[in-house]
Amino acid sequence: MDLIIKNGTIVDSNRCYQANLAIAEGKIKAIFLGDKNFQAEKVIDAEKKMVFPGLVDSHVHFQLQDLGKIISTDTFASGTKAAACGGVTTVIDFADQTRGESPLKGFYERKKNADSQVAVDYSLHVSKTDIEFLDEIPTLISEGIASFKFFTTYSWRNLDLNDAELLILFREVRKCRGMVVGHCENDAMVIQYRNDLIQEGKTDPIYHAHSRPHIAEEEAIQRVLLFAEKTGVKLHLAHLTTKEGSDLLSLAKQQGLNVTGETCPHYLLLNEREYKGSEGYLNLMSPPLRHAKDQQALIKRVQDRTIDQIVTDHCEFSRESKGKGSVPFHQVLNGIPGIETSLPLMHDFLINKQKLTYPQLIALMSTKPAQIFGLYPQKGSLMVGTDADLVLFDPKIEKVITPEKLHYSIDWNPYTSLKVVGWPVMTILRGNILCEDGDFVGPQNKGKFLKCTNK
Ligand SMILES: [Zn+2]
Repeated sequence: MDLIIKNGTIVDSNRCYQANLAIAEGKIKAIFLGDKNFQAEKVIDAEKKMVFPGLVDSHVHFQLQDLGKIISTDTFASGTKAAACGGVTTVIDFADQTRGESPLKGFYERKKNADSQVAVDYSLHVSKTDIEFLDEIPTLISEGIASFKFFTTYSWRNLDLNDAELLILFREVRKCRGMVVGHCENDAMVIQYRNDLIQEGKTDPIYHAHSRPHIAEEEAIQRVLLFAEKTGVKLHLAHLTTKEGSDLLSLAKQQGLNVTGETCPHYLLLNEREYKGSEGYLNLMSPPLRHAKDQQALIKRVQDRTIDQIVTDHCEFSRESKGKGSVPFHQVLNGIPGIETSLPLMHDFLINKQKLTYPQLIALMSTKPAQIFGLYPQKGSLMVGTDADLVLFDPKIEKVITPEKLHYSIDWNPYTSLKVVGWPVMTILRGNILCEDGDFVGPQNKGKFLKCTNK
């Protein structure tokens, strides 16, 4: 064997139990109690540690591009390094189609770019921004793309599809047995509210939240649920932020629709109060932070398993690229970092404070995302024969979140000074140690592209 991890508490989405793990050639070869006389090159004692399957973050944006230019602060290399230090061993990023251009070509370019840089395993969603090139969908699926992202808003960035286009895309993706992933906000409402606020001279960060009202999310979700029902396509709702949106997901599930949904740590932990003060501009993202009542509703929907997974929507910008607080809200680039702190934050919040169980946490952050996007059981599980992607987690370590101690390329963090109990102390990808006691120690670019398969 290459590696044995002994005396840990293994956690999967069903249970916690004491066992040892033997790893060879990047795979879990045995899960056992006692001593099996295995010879191993390295033995790690995980006493008093939890052993999780590596986390799967299915919604990240590294080196985000806009009109062909990289606008976010990180690269695939720095972003996946931060991911590894946060216990994330699989990410799903996006190949955004430039309207009028081939999504297949865009996918090959994005993949080529990522392949040489990624420290963890990864896959891609393809964003469809028009209904041209639909004949490329079967090829994309055979290349390992399971999910097609659509936007109901961002008409000003040429990203949105209108209602007829959504129906056509849903039908075509359904025919090819793919799934669709939606960013749901009503475009006309967002534009109208934004323009009215700007005209009234209301351009502080708080007006970003006012410019994207609850009803914009509720209406768009209601509409795409109808389209999904009529076409039979499998639908995943990205970043739910409102009580109304999560209630709609619950109702759709009760009605038997093939629909899943996600939220992000920031919608559970933060609300629109964060937009006040001189640093408020840093926390601009879309959809925006909401109210305390929405936080409460989302927590309930996480607890009752309506919300299937927690993702970060990680998108890193420096203070400079966010305009240093001196530009109106509608000109501030949208996005916050999240991938390195999502596990400790969610552990501290959901387990220590909300009393969820460890298997629930692992379902939300590893197993369900792997299942939804067709990577399970290779990812998202701890079973004999699956990839040896592991996180050793110390549930007792106390840490204060400090930007300088994280591996991002920026000097700010939405959770600066927050104290959490519990932190990942080792991350292993296919049997190789990537991160140990907060230091990245692994190979920089040995992550692999994963083919997602819809079942
Ligand atoms: Zn996103």
